[in-house]
Amino acid sequence: MIPRVLSGVQPTGNLHIGNYLGALANWVKIQHDCESIFCIVDLHAITVYQKPDELRAKIRELAALFLAVGIDPTHSRIVVQSTVPAHAELAWLLTCVTPMGWLERMTQFKAKSAAQESIGDGLFQYPVLMAADILLYQAAIVPVGEDQMQHLELTRDIAQRFNSLYGETFVMPATRLPAVGARIMGLDDPTAKMSKSAEGAGHAIALLDPPDRIKKTIMRATTDSNPAVDFNTMGPGVANLLNIHQAFAGSSNEQMRAEFTGMRYGDLKKRVTETVITSLEPIQARYKEIIADPQRLDSIITSGAEAVSPIANSTVQTVKERMGIYTRS
Ligand code: ATP
Ligand code: MG
Repeated sequence: MIPRVLSGVQPTGNLHIGNYLGALANWVKIQHDCESIFCIVDLHAITVYQKPDELRAKIRELAALFLAVGIDPTHSRIVVQSTVPAHAELAWLLTCVTPMGWLERMTQFKAKSAAQESIGDGLFQYPVLMAADILLYQAAIVPVGEDQMQHLELTRDIAQRFNSLYGETFVMPATRLPAVGARIMGLDDPTAKMSKSAEGAGHAIALLDPPDRIKKTIMRATTDSNPAVDFNTMGPGVANLLNIHQAFAGSSNEQMRAEFTGMRYGDLKKRVTETVITSLEPIQARYKEIIADPQRLDSIITSGAEAVSPIANSTVQTVKERMGIYTRS
């Protein structure tokens, strides 16, 4: 049986190299071995206030970026979460089997709520909606970055609890992390993961950043007080730069040691800059073409929803029947 894969990105901020190396590059690699569904999770985005016009534009931008990095729309489905109402419906049904204590332990909730003056209940429920996204399609593989591991574990717990209360219903999803690039750190602060929602010009490299900006961000990246690369004593900033290089270049650990041991930080940064710029150039060129054709984008999004809705609706129907909710006979 061909495994089903599901993953998603929030249409907030600017897609960055952490999202690419941690998730999207992996999607592209495995898409043809699987039945693949890639979501633009707009219902997740609104767990924190978004300006409506900006959110609308970001959804299209993200769909175009999915295509630009190499998602093949003739094989994989690109789905805007809100176009398939079953996501929200299953989320409610699962909310009712999820203990609050499980959600209170989520580190993303703690981090994101600390930055909010008023915390929406949606931010608290976020992991249940994510569990619904995955379980709705009985996805076996969920390729995400390391930061989402805790949410995936929770998804498994919710699935298990549902199965034990109402009978075997959900497939247990497993994740797939990339060998290198599962956790890219901020260039201004290598102790914090690179995030779309983080403030500050020196924090992230966006996939659509022009070359001069990429150069500036990398040349200003935080390193440490060593003069040159030493794999035994390097700090997190240097490790992050090397990680970024390795993930884009596909080098082995031995190749990395041979190429970078003893390299001065200025030269290291120049080398990483070159690699990032040349890796992003073709993505940016494709993006420009794709975003210029909104009708094609709309038709890909519409056909994505049409293709996956029967799977989603059938899961919700089964869940309702198992829970004893009214369904027409
Ligand atoms: P936000 O700050 O809005 O939460 P984000 O950068 O965390 O943005 P998400 O849309 O939450 O992006 O996550 C999309 C995908 O990218 C997920 O699979 C997530 O695990 C992955 N990801 C996010 N940040 C990183 C990172 N720094 N390194 C590797 N993978 C990442
Ligand atoms: Mg995130």
